[in-house]
Amino acid sequence: TGAMIERRDALLGPAYRLMYEHPLHIVRGEGVWLIDPQGRRYLDVYNNVTSLGHCHPAVTEAICTQVRTLATNTRYLHDTILELAERLLASVPETRLAHLMLTCTGSEANDLAYRIAKVRTGGTGVIVTDTAYHGITDAVSKFSPSLGTTVDLGAHVRLVPAPRLYHAAGEDLGERFTRDVEAAIADLRRHGIQPAALIVDTLFTSDGILPEPAGFMRGAVDAIKRAGGLFIADEVQPGFGRTGEHMWGFQRHGVMPDIVTLGKPMGNGQPIAGLLATADALEEFGRHSRYFNTFAGNTVSCAAALAVLKTIEQEGLVPHAARIGDVLRDGIADLASRHEGIGDVRGAGLFVGVELVSDRGTRTPDRWLTSQVVNRMRDKGVLLSACAMGHNVLKIRPPLVLTADQAGMVIEALDAALTEARSAMPA
Ligand code: PMP
Repeated sequence: TGAMIERRDALLGPAYRLMYEHPLHIVRGEGVWLIDPQGRRYLDVYNNVTSLGHCHPAVTEAICTQVRTLATNTRYLHDTILELAERLLASVPETRLAHLMLTCTGSEANDLAYRIAKVRTGGTGVIVTDTAYHGITDAVSKFSPSLGTTVDLGAHVRLVPAPRLYHAAGEDLGERFTRDVEAAIADLRRHGIQPAALIVDTLFTSDGILPEPAGFMRGAVDAIKRAGGLFIADEVQPGFGRTGEHMWGFQRHGVMPDIVTLGKPMGNGQPIAGLLATADALEEFGRHSRYFNTFAGNTVSCAAALAVLKTIEQEGLVPHAARIGDVLRDGIADLASRHEGIGDVRGAGLFVGVELVSDRGTRTPDRWLTSQVVNRMRDKGVLLSACAMGHNVLKIRPPLVLTADQAGMVIEALDAALTEARSAMPA
């Protein structure tokens, strides 16, 4: 791999990153497995794009059939995009979400949502959580603090602390979040900035995977709406059944978004993303803007997305995610009795966070241990990564088709990696 890394650096330049101390060269994917050129199989518990499993035949077939028939854009009448819109909108029956717009990436979806919010509200202010990631466009990177020092946050952006229950010491996080959002709104106004939107990844995935307490967001959503802003639910990570409860993460919190952004697993690897919006949010934007995005909503991507929705239903993947998520969390929680480094195990469905600490009393983040575990697990053939401000939360989000036996393999590898890391600990 050494020569390949050098060649890649020379060709692709300095902005790309590889995962793991020993980067992985893979040539094939199959279900939950990634396969290297020597035929070694790695259990992929990190890729939430191929949510139905790598190369799922239903999606592969749909793509191949459509690409042989017609690959074109949204300027023609075509059935597939309409069926896709009907199915997606039917998945949110209790809301006023009425329209689907398509993009190629989650970043573009958030960029478009922000444009729509600016037109609807006449404001520019954005409120996001303090380690949020919403994407890479110029506008969206300005409200993606997890990009760190590479990007300056905009003067129109305010950060509020994510709901870190493990560190909350009994505080009511709903009240706290409401107060923080209200203070952010007031501060924007003090600077002459009208709030356009509160944008929230409803599982707080880059903030450290924070599903609790369910419902805590209601006061903050009311506050942004009272202030004339929109509530945008970023479902790029939690969406499409991952939480094991509903199709969408916001449903866990009983809140009504004006816009819901979608991406990642939407095409099981085929690039397709987009947003659902209320008629009210879109009206002004539609009157004044023309929206055409060459590849977004193309017939092939729509066919893939439609196959994804049908497969989630046919294979019962939402309840399956709940079941296997429980197996995974329970098994990891059991390890905590033998491994002092495990501070907290949390998540919803097949999105599991394991917070590693150097001291359970002070709950001090253990970045070293986390990196050790991630790399040792890779060497054992189990692929995952880390997130959160302290880079100390193991991020486990396997394809939804993971079996209980495979969940057992993850737990076993984690057990061994923690044991090895402990004996490798510097004095
Ligand atoms: N929102 C969230 C919550 C994300 O996790 C990501 C991607 N990691 C994005 C938006 C951006 O999506 P994309 O990479 O498809 O542009």
